[in-house]
Amino acid sequence: MEKILNYINGELVAPESGEYLDNYDPSRGTVYSQIPDSDANDIDMAVSAAKEAFPLWSKTPREERSRLMLKVAELIDENHEMLSRAESKDNGKPLKLARRVDIPRASSNFRFFATAILHESTEAHRMDETAMNYTERTPIGVAGCISPWNLPLYLFTWKIAPALAAGNTVVAKPSEVTPMTAFLLSKLCIEAGLPKGVLNIVHGLGPKVGQAISEHPDIPIISFTGGTATGKRIAATAAPMFKKLSLELGGKNPNIIFADCDFDKALSTSVQSSFANQGQICLCGSRIFIERSIYDKFRDAFAEKVQKLKVGDPLAESSHLGAVVSKPHMEKVLDYIDLAKKEGGVVLTGGQQIVTAGELSKGYYLAPTVIEGLDYNCRTNQEEIFGPLVTLTPFDTEEEVLTMANSTPYGLSATLWTNDLNRTQRMSTSIKAGVVWVNCWLVRDLRTPFGGVKQSGVGREGGWDALQFFTEKKNVCIKL
Ligand code: NAD
Repeated sequence: MEKILNYINGELVAPESGEYLDNYDPSRGTVYSQIPDSDANDIDMAVSAAKEAFPLWSKTPREERSRLMLKVAELIDENHEMLSRAESKDNGKPLKLARRVDIPRASSNFRFFATAILHESTEAHRMDETAMNYTERTPIGVAGCISPWNLPLYLFTWKIAPALAAGNTVVAKPSEVTPMTAFLLSKLCIEAGLPKGVLNIVHGLGPKVGQAISEHPDIPIISFTGGTATGKRIAATAAPMFKKLSLELGGKNPNIIFADCDFDKALSTSVQSSFANQGQICLCGSRIFIERSIYDKFRDAFAEKVQKLKVGDPLAESSHLGAVVSKPHMEKVLDYIDLAKKEGGVVLTGGQQIVTAGELSKGYYLAPTVIEGLDYNCRTNQEEIFGPLVTLTPFDTEEEVLTMANSTPYGLSATLWTNDLNRTQRMSTSIKAGVVWVNCWLVRDLRTPFGGVKQSGVGREGGWDALQFFTEKKNVCIKL
């Protein structure tokens, strides 16, 4: 059985302990490879390698850093099909989604930051004849990057690329649930000629490997994407050490549909924003609020469309949804469906596990589930479920829907469907979220800031924000 290896100091190595964990294919419920069960010793080695590589990498001309990163992007593109298949097998997502979104975005991440650093500028402030100030940005050192399982290579590279482009070296940990494409990336980095120690990838469990990254005294900066509870733990560990932190956490995003919207567009995009990647995208709109005058029409049309979604083998072109990522995750979502029923919810469609025949019979498949009749304040509507489950709730006024939309502890993203420009502006300003989409969903310009408010996190990724995060800013004042 294939053994995944750590990537430390330019080489693929076994974990110090020699111990491995099982890696599951969620579409079949079977173990198909082994993951290093690394620990603090492996992180120590990775940090030493990254520290040693830092002086040279941080002084490497940006054209050369850019060239090497573009080479990695090129190799990702050349291996698009192999990486897409690996991502789909590790995660359970439809292969066509990995092909269309995850893998192209991974190479875009490298390409975007590799070229952004070529166009960076700095500010200067002249104090008449007294002095000249200029702002200098320098890389910080060894950056720790920790990522989740839902968009494995996409989110992993979204952190690594700006950290490297800015001149830092990196110790990174992908999710132990989906380690394969990070392993394949390490092979591509070797092929691209990335100098040893510049990027180190250590696999293993969060409480061991992730915790060792957050605790390590020689990692002064951490970029984390994952659940809010994990983010809290990392913040509690890192804050007394005054580490620089970017935390991209959970969401419970509202999708608000006004009666004046383009009905068909709102309907078809809402099916996407509810169930893409089996609802396992932090930006999925899991609470759909519909203006009362079109509630019945929208509910019936939505439920009908959702019923037609095909759940099945991620490799099949015809599958709209694949498997959810793991057995515990499937059980968690099923528990929430039970909770929703206890809270008074009515299941309009879905609500159960799907057991298929043959080799997929042990896979983790769930029917896309739509529930109505719940109070906006109940647990189902307040807690992040992160699966193929959405709720429908009618509203009468803007004020009412704002109260409901802003009622959760989260504030990651929101979607508005309306053709009223003034309302768009009023609502966008009042919604507590880091991203507001109007008449669209998941449209991303990589130059724009990305991140959440409240318990969805602190910090902004994307564009200059990410490059600035991975640098120290200093003012130099020269007396004239
Ligand atoms: P998770 O918090 O369980 O794990 C994320 C990563 O943290 C994994 O690599 C894990 O091994 C590691 N980890 C676990 N315990 C740790 C510890 N004590 N110290 C350091 N690292 C530790 O999250 P998940 O289940 O992998 O991902 C799902 C969550 O991620 C959802 O809440 C989702 O909303 C969130 N998410 C947020 C964004 C965003 O941009 N805001 C994007 C994608 C996913």
